[in-house]
Amino acid sequence: MNNICPSCKKPFIRNHTPESYLDENCFDCSFWLKKITMPEEDEKRRVIVAGQHYMMGANTSGPRGFGGKRFVINFNDGRTVETCNLWFQGEISRQFRARLPDNARFIPIKMEKMKMCDFFDVEDWMIIGPLSEDLSEEEKNQKQIEDDFNQEDDDTVV
Ligand SMILES: [Zn+2]
Repeated sequence: MNNICPSCKKPFIRNHTPESYLDENCFDCSFWLKKITMPEEDEKRRVIVAGQHYMMGANTSGPRGFGGKRFVINFNDGRTVETCNLWFQGEISRQFRARLPDNARFIPIKMEKMKMCDFFDVEDWMIIGPLSEDLSEEEKNQKQIEDDFNQEDDDTVV
C-alpha cells in the first residue's frame, strides 16, 4: 500500500492527483523536484530568499499573491524587479536547498509604497533599474515636505 520515496526514503501514500507526482517521488519531493526542473522562461520569475521559494505572477486584476502587496526584489543576476503579485510556495526542504539556492533579496520599501497596487500599466511585471538614485531623490523630496510642514507648524505656533 505504502510507497517509498526514492528521494527522501520515507513511506507515503499517493493521495493527491496523479500529476502532483514526479515519477515515484512523494508529494513534497515531487513538488521541489519540479521546481528544480522548471522551464527556463519561468526561471526569471523565481525568487528564493533565505530558503523560501516564491514565484512572481503576471500583473493581473485577478487574485494576487500576498493580497497584492508590493515587493521590490534585487536578484543576484543584477535585475531589480517590482511586483505586486508574489506567490509563496513554502520553505524548500533541506535536501533540495543546494539545488535551489537563494537567488535574490528583498529591498525594504517605504511604508506608503507598500500599499496594494491599484493599477496595471505594464505588460507583465515591472522591470526597474537600480533603486538607489530614485530613493535618494524621493527621500530628498520627503525631507523637503517635512521641513515645509515643520516650518508651517512653527509659524502657527508663533
Ligand atoms: Zn520524498
